[in-house]
Amino acid sequence: MSLEPERHVEVWVIQAIPRHAEQLLRYLSSSVPLGRELAHLKRGHRDSTGAVNVLLALVSADDPEVPNRNAHAVLERLGVAREWVHTATLRRCVVPAVAPRTGLQSQHWSRTLWPVIYRPEAPEPPILAETEVGTALELLERLEHETQGTDVNAALVVRWPLPSAPAQVICSVQGPHAPLRCIDEASRIFRDRDNGEEHPHYMLTGLDLFTVREPCVCCAMAATHSRIRRLFFIHPDASFGGILRVGVHRLKALNHRYEAYQRQLAS
Ligand SMILES: [Zn+2]
Repeated sequence: MSLEPERHVEVWVIQAIPRHAEQLLRYLSSSVPLGRELAHLKRGHRDSTGAVNVLLALVSADDPEVPNRNAHAVLERLGVAREWVHTATLRRCVVPAVAPRTGLQSQHWSRTLWPVIYRPEAPEPPILAETEVGTALELLERLEHETQGTDVNAALVVRWPLPSAPAQVICSVQGPHAPLRCIDEASRIFRDRDNGEEHPHYMLTGLDLFTVREPCVCCAMAATHSRIRRLFFIHPDASFGGILRVGVHRLKALNHRYEAYQRQLAS
């Protein structure tokens, strides 16, 4: 992948008077927003000389050609007070029009063009075979049907080694923290025999977990600890969910990661 951005865009940059920098940045973010497409551009940064450089706005077709002599016209168009900035420092600057796709691009652009923010995208889980999608949807719909009209969560631990093989439900639990309790239940079913004593078998390696609601952080961690292979769930939980927002299932610091699929399995 090339280190250079595929597209550039021209912007106005100016040095802020340090004591007004915060006020200027607040004003710009509410009154001169850059929009989603340019959300990767930092609005202001302090350079090695201590100057606060601020990205004012995109250069408009009507803006004067010679910036310094006509700085006042540009500031007026944007509604920026002259006392907030060092007027003579207004300049045009070329910045990346697209977000960086790698950490390396981000570093390179930040050094050579303008500071950018790098947000690595969550990788998509592997695409499921058609038969897998059918079986997974059936199991999810069954769970949803069982809990319909309530806000109770429900979970299944399933042994489903091959896409073409039937999925075998090991156990099913309803209620608060259903995923965690279902994992616990499964570990009791797979007891270890050791010197005549029985212990719960906490490793559920290769088994899948199905749940109506996105597991909370605790439940998602329980799936990590028990080495669950894949998680399937229907409804996201914006407040307590441990998957979509937190990404517990793919935390690099943990020694097991699993795939997570939300209901839109076929898309
Ligand atoms: Zn939970």
